[in-house]
Amino acid sequence: MATINITNHKTSSAKPEKDKNPTTKNNTGGKSDINSILEVRYSPLAFASGAYSLINANAGSQFTRITGTSPATKTYTSVQIGPRDHIELNSDLVYCNHSCAPSLEFDMKKFEIRVVKGKDLKIGDPLTFFYPSTEWDMAQPFDCNCGAKECHHWINGAKNMDRDILGKYWLNEHIASLLAEENGTQNNFHEAENGTQRDQLRGNNL
Ligand SMILES: [Zn+2]
Repeated sequence: MATINITNHKTSSAKPEKDKNPTTKNNTGGKSDINSILEVRYSPLAFASGAYSLINANAGSQFTRITGTSPATKTYTSVQIGPRDHIELNSDLVYCNHSCAPSLEFDMKKFEIRVVKGKDLKIGDPLTFFYPSTEWDMAQPFDCNCGAKECHHWINGAKNMDRDILGKYWLNEHIASLLAEENGTQNNFHEAENGTQRDQLRGNNL
């Protein structure tokens, strides 16, 4: 079972050495900037490592820009940026876990990460976002154990989530448009059921 947001793990001494080659560093798009605002606490348990804030930031403010990404196929680490497009973050941002009460919004149109609107970010807070806000249909669904009182437990992307729950979260445009597309399909279905009425309306327009 995936375990998310275990908070009491000490930072492991097994943390990998950062690449000191400056050329590589430049190619990863400001990795050092990320690591001045974000700390990864590593866990030997699967999926239990996580990112924590090194800064205070106001609700709604920009936390960081997203740089150094590369196009990818859908994996458990990729982030969706459009109806059919995915990227790998290629930075420690990959340690931002899912939470049903997230601290951040990953805006994959602007390539910007913001603090959620309702709550200031404090030093030491887990850096989390709501995975269905970017992911339509996840490569690796999991049973969420985030501890939020509104925890939705089975997280499998927006496609498979209750629409009323989704409505409570900030969502990326590509998720909103995929939802609208799906609604459109449903509306067409209902229209087909009301075909007689539609034909009458059409007849009136002729
Ligand atoms: Zn949860």
